[in-house]
Amino acid sequence: MRRATFRGGIHLPGYKELTSNSATVVLPVPDKLYIPLSQHIGAPCAPFVNVGERVKKGQKIGVGKGFVSAPVHSSVSGTVTDILIMEHPSGSFVPCIVVENDRQEEWAESVKSATDTEILSPEELRSIILNAGIVGMGGATFPTHVKYSPVEGRQVDTVILNGVECEPYLTSDHRLMLEKPEQIIAGLGYIMKAVNCRKGLIGIEDNKPDAVEKMQNAAKANPGISVVVLKEKYPQGSEKQLIYACTGRHVPVGGLPIAVGVIVNNVATAVAITDAVEHGIPLIERYVTVSGDGIVTPANYLVRIGTLFNDLILQSGGFTGETEKIIAGGPMMGKTVFTSHIPVVKGTSGILVMQKKTGKISAEYPCVRCAKCVDACPAFLEPTSLAKLARRRLWKETEDGDVMSCIECGSCAFICPSQIPLLQHIRRAKQAVLAARTLTSAAQ
Ligand code: SF4
Ligand code: SF4
Repeated sequence: MRRATFRGGIHLPGYKELTSNSATVVLPVPDKLYIPLSQHIGAPCAPFVNVGERVKKGQKIGVGKGFVSAPVHSSVSGTVTDILIMEHPSGSFVPCIVVENDRQEEWAESVKSATDTEILSPEELRSIILNAGIVGMGGATFPTHVKYSPVEGRQVDTVILNGVECEPYLTSDHRLMLEKPEQIIAGLGYIMKAVNCRKGLIGIEDNKPDAVEKMQNAAKANPGISVVVLKEKYPQGSEKQLIYACTGRHVPVGGLPIAVGVIVNNVATAVAITDAVEHGIPLIERYVTVSGDGIVTPANYLVRIGTLFNDLILQSGGFTGETEKIIAGGPMMGKTVFTSHIPVVKGTSGILVMQKKTGKISAEYPCVRCAKCVDACPAFLEPTSLAKLARRRLWKETEDGDVMSCIECGSCAFICPSQIPLLQHIRRAKQAVLAARTLTSAAQ
């Protein structure tokens, strides 16, 4: 078995055994769903319904104006009882549509029984994906139809499905590959057709041999699709690192995967596309891992979008010990949230609850110039120098040091024996460089 990888990166304790062997549980649908109007990168949607209106399951309830946008749909049938501002897993406050579940599960008219998918053109496929509100479900939440729109002078020759899931604790994609391999392969086939490409790859780390086997068997249905087995290493699932490991191509600094003829999507996105293409079902549910040492029973759930983190935590038996923090996503690139009264959104792959002892912040020591952070950086940066420049607020110098190429993977900070919060300094520098660029373009 060939095991491809990228340069740099680190080996992390996985904690995957907490949930990887338990079949996904369908979470009971709550009485109230809180569906945010912003669940994608780009301008938020505007409400498409009024308070008091009855809605059906799968009905469009929020629509966006810009091209980089994705509509949102009701994940139950019921009544719109409120439109309010509430906290989002990203940390911002966004408008949410509250739907009281009438438990009728009455589908919107747009949801239909099986369609003849053979006759669909690439344009029709892209239009279905747009109308289904599908976004990158690995966490990036970039509207999927935008990614598939033709770019002049560029041809996609490879579509890569990301089945890496390199963040510790998270296993929802792993379970998806075990439980829905045929839907993943079908979804990859639709993506390939939507972008006129004949080659599909599925990147999976070698710590998931059962998923590799399942996907290899399912891939036999499509001769253009194969599985690439990757070495277990963090951040193997980052877009540029995955592309290099699977194809040997380097995405240029500041460039998009299309620059090297590649499109990358998550395995969960492929399943959402299959549901949309074959049945007209929009993106209204997703797989979510609930894990960490601060939760009684870690598990994977199939959850309706708009379900509160609270409901999932309760279903998992509640908190153990004293909670240090709750993270939306993985421990490396996820966001710490300050309440569990926030809804699951399209990009929520996991909810981690950490007990006080594991989340403890330890003391910082001076740099010992060991260069471990440099060796670990998958973006070929010098994190130690960038952090020193950022501390001195030398933003232009950090820009010259390529700070904007940082993918914020946190490998440098994790490996640093002096426990220097390198990523924190680098993030600050990136924000300062971005702000300076905005000012300059506004002045022109
Ligand atoms: S500098 Fe950025 S890309 Fe490099 S290891 Fe640190 S966080 Fe990751
Ligand atoms: S890993 Fe930490 S101690 Fe080592 S060079 Fe980088 S910043 Fe310095």
